[in-house]
Amino acid sequence: MLMGVSMNIDLKLTENPKSKPGDDSKLGFGSIFTDHMFMMEYDDDIGWHNARIEELHDIQISPAANIFHYGQEVFEGMKAYKSNGEVFLFRPDMNAKRANNSLERLCMPKIKEEDFVKAVKKFVEVEKDWVPKSKGTTLYIRPFVIGIDAQLGVHPSAKYYFIIIASPSGAYYANGMSPVSIWVEDEYVRAIRGGVGFTKTGGNYAASLLGQEKAEEHGCEQTLWLDGVERKYIEEVGSMNIFFKIDGNVVTPMLNGSILPGVTRDSIIKLCKDFGYEVEERKISLDELMQAAESGKLEECFGTGTACVVSPVGKLVNNDKAITINDCKIGQLSQKLYDTLTGIQYNMLEDKFGWRVKVC
Ligand SMILES: *Cc1c(COP(=O)(O)O)cnc(C)c1O
Repeated sequence: MLMGVSMNIDLKLTENPKSKPGDDSKLGFGSIFTDHMFMMEYDDDIGWHNARIEELHDIQISPAANIFHYGQEVFEGMKAYKSNGEVFLFRPDMNAKRANNSLERLCMPKIKEEDFVKAVKKFVEVEKDWVPKSKGTTLYIRPFVIGIDAQLGVHPSAKYYFIIIASPSGAYYANGMSPVSIWVEDEYVRAIRGGVGFTKTGGNYAASLLGQEKAEEHGCEQTLWLDGVERKYIEEVGSMNIFFKIDGNVVTPMLNGSILPGVTRDSIIKLCKDFGYEVEERKISLDELMQAAESGKLEECFGTGTACVVSPVGKLVNNDKAITINDCKIGQLSQKLYDTLTGIQYNMLEDKFGWRVKVC
C-alpha cells in the first residue's frame, strides 16, 4: 500500500447468504459466524495489500507456517452494538493502537490505525443484519494477524494475513448479573515483565489454560493471576482486568508490562474519576487485600473486559483461605459502572468522552 493512500477494500459479497439465527436467547458465544470475512495480505516487498471482504472460507496455509511453530499471532476482541436499528462500535481506535503495540512486540508488521478502523467499520457495515438486537446481545468481532511464511528457521515471518471474522453473541448476563468466585493462582503464572503479557497473543492464553482448569476444579469460574516474579502482587483475571474498592477509593494494578491494557479498564478508570472517586493505579499485594477484607475495608471487587463489561466478584479463594466480598452481592459501584458503560455503548446515555463510533 502506498504511503498516504487510503486503503481500498474490494467487496466480493456472497450470493448465498446463510439464514440468520432466529432466537437471540440461544446465541451463546463464538460458535456462529457471519457470511463474510475481511482479509488482507502482507509481503515484505509490497507491505499490506489486497484488502477485501469475501465469503467466509477456510484458509489454506503450509504446515511449515510460522504460526504453527513459533506462534506469531496477535488478536483483538471488540463488539458492535445495535440500538434502534443503528449500529455502533466502542473506541475502535484503542483496539487499533493495542494491535500495533502487540504486533511490534512480536516483530510483526503494523497496520495503519485508520486502515484497521476502516476495515472493522466496513466489515460490520456489510454484516449489519447479523448484529443481534435483543438487550445485551452484540456482534463479537475478532480481528487477528498470523505469520504464514513456510520456513522453519526461527525468525520473523516475511508473509502475514490480517483477517477479521465476526460472531453474533448472546447477552453475557442472560440470567442476570451475578457475582463470580475467583481462584487466586500462586503456582502457575500467566506472564512476566519483559515478556508478552501486555500483548493480545494466543500464547498468553495457552499458558493460562492449566491455571483455569485448576480454578474450575476448585469450584471457581476464573483465575486471578499474581505477578510472575514474587507471586505476591495482583495482576489480572483470565480475560479481565481487576478493580477493588478499598475504604472508599478505587484501586487497580498499575500497567507494568505483564498486564493487558484493557480498553474497558481505561474506560472504567475515566468513569470512576468522573463519578468523583480517587483512582489509584498501583501495586496491590494479596496480603493487603486479605487485611483489607479482614478489617472490613474491602467494599467491592469487579473484573472488567469487553465480553462482560463489569463482572462483580463475590469470593476470592486462595488454597484453604477464602474471602467473601460485599456478602457476595453486586456492589453499588459495580452496578453503576455496568449501567453507565452499557448505556453509552447502546446509545442510551450521553457520550461525553466521545467513545461511540456510528457504523451505520
Ligand atoms: C482482552 C483482555 C482483557 C480485557 O481487555 P478489554 O480491551 O477490556 O476487552 C484483559 N485481560 C486479558 C488477558 C485480555 O486478553
